Formats: sequence, structure tokens, C-alpha cells
Amino acid sequence: MKAVQFDRFGGPEVLTYRDVAAPEPGPGEVLIDIACIGVNHLDIDVREGVSGLPVALPHTLGTEAAGTVADVGPEVTGFSVGDPVATYAFRSCGVCDACTAGRPNLCARIGTLGAHDPGTYCQRIALPVARVVKLPDGLSPVGAVASYKLAPAWEALVDTAALQPGETVAVTGAGGSVGSAAVVLGKHLGARVIGIASSDARCARIEEAGADHTVNYRDSDLTEGLLALTDGKGVDLVFDVAGGDALVAAIKGLAWGGRVALVGAHAGEVVPIDMIDLFRRHLTIFRCGRYTRPILESVLAARAAGLAAPPIHTTLPLAEAAEAHRLMESRAFFGRILLTTQ
Ligand SMILES: [Zn+2]
Repeated sequence: MKAVQFDRFGGPEVLTYRDVAAPEPGPGEVLIDIACIGVNHLDIDVREGVSGLPVALPHTLGTEAAGTVADVGPEVTGFSVGDPVATYAFRSCGVCDACTAGRPNLCARIGTLGAHDPGTYCQRIALPVARVVKLPDGLSPVGAVASYKLAPAWEALVDTAALQPGETVAVTGAGGSVGSAAVVLGKHLGARVIGIASSDARCARIEEAGADHTVNYRDSDLTEGLLALTDGKGVDLVFDVAGGDALVAAIKGLAWGGRVALVGAHAGEVVPIDMIDLFRRHLTIFRCGRYTRPILESVLAARAAGLAAPPIHTTLPLAEAAEAHRLMESRAFFGRILLTTQ
């Protein structure tokens, strides 16, 4: 079968489309014929060797994929050949306090597909049943892979910050893949959604994705923008994928008792936060973003029941994975970049 691997860390050019041995499903494993694969920023960090995660070379990237079951190993129940399925990225230890408390996304020994373990940039993968979920009727493999970013958004907005209908949520980095998923999910949950981005062109795309309002933080004062859109009250929740100055300004635009769900910090990892303001206005900060298998199943079920997919920028053949990485590094895209094996 074909896979995209790299033998040394480096730029997109190290990605090599090559023949590798096809996997066989071992005991408790499902063999998946992959149809569609998600490209993530993590893939670039792993390829460059800057992820800080243990990676054995040659390495196959990829944390997300969907397709159909091609074979099942011994002791597998609940999956049959031909079932449409998607991968679940994380592997937890199963025995620590977090795992036994039903919070495997907080396991300190968590492993990620395509980082700690060989990933999905290939035509077939054998995975333990714990890392495979069935697709609900009516959801295609492409529709499933397009849904993945709704899972960290769901973990933050539904499970952790409990966004309520009628509340106002401001989404930083709303032009990115997780941010645009939070815009779509926020609307689905009945909230008023304010998308925050760095250009008018991105703001227009975010409104097309469903945001009620947008704020271009490069050209205007973000705090004032959030206060103006809420009659001076401030927003109830900030969903932050950016960190940096946008996070600081968005916190100042929170209502009393407001909360912040932190999902990323690509725009600035160290930020000054006024602790007195935090105490005085009873603000709460949550760290979110790593989803569980039940959350992924909830997202896929909601998608099949009508939840819209976040935007897709483009779909490229697996053989052009290097081109997909160049596109992601260019930042000249809006929505997800997907790969197909067909
Ligand atoms: Zn654990």
C-alpha cells in the first residue's frame, strides 16, 4: 500500500509518497481502508521535529481519518467488514486517576495518533477498537473528517464552559479550523457568536460560516468592539485559540462572571493577565481542547442529525501531502485541508 512518510525532520520536501507493507489487524484491532485524512498543524510541528513528542523514524503523520472496515482481528466484536468508521486520535493509560475517573483526556501518559504512534497518512491502518468509532447513517468519510474540529470545540463549549442558548460567545482566531468550528457549534447551541479575525476578508468568510458579528482586531480596538456589540455589558464567554494580545483584549471585553475557554496559543504563549481584574469581576479561565471518544461520537451523531460542517478549504490527493503542508504553512487558506486516498 501507499503511505506518506519521512526519514528525517525538515520542510515539506521530506514527505515521501512510497510503498510500505500493508498492516494486518492483530487481536482486538480493526483494519481500516482509509478514504479521507485530515491535515493538522500538529503534523507540521512533528515533521519539523519541534513538537517535543517522541517520534520514531521513518514516521507516518496523521491524527485523523475515516473510511470503511476492511478486516477485523481476533476478539473484535461490534465491528464488521464494510462498516463506515473514523479514527479516534488519543490513547490513554487506562489506570491513572484521570483515566479511572472517566477523564482519559487528562491522562498524563496520553499518546496521539501520528505523533507518539504511526498515523493516518496511508491507505490502510490497523487500530485497537478503542481508537475506532462507527459513523452514523448518512455521514460520509469526508463529512466525518470535516467534523473533527467540532470535537475540541464541543469539549470546550459544551462539556467545560457549558455555553447556554442566548449567551454571547466571542471566538478568537475564528478564521482558523478550530475557531470556525466553534463559530458553527456556537450557533448550533443557540448562542450569539462574535468572530474575531485579523482581516476584513476573513471576517466576511466567518460571517458566511454563521457568525452574527465579526471584529477585525487589527483595524479596531477588540475590547471596545466586544463592549459595543453587547451594549457595554461584555460577552459571556471567550473561546480562545490565539493567546497573545487578542486574548488579553478579549478578557477585558468579558461581562462580570464571564469565562474563558483556552484551546490554543499560537499567537502568543505568555500573556500578562490582570489578576485584580480577574478577582473583581469573578472571571473564570478553563483550559480545554482535548476531546474524548464519547465527545467525538456525540459530534458525529450531531452532524448526521443536521449540525453543519465547518468550512473545507480544499481536498488534495494523499500523494500531494507535501503540497498540503505548504498550503497550511502559507496561512492562505480558510477552513480544513483534507487528503483523499482515491
Ligand atoms: Zn491514564
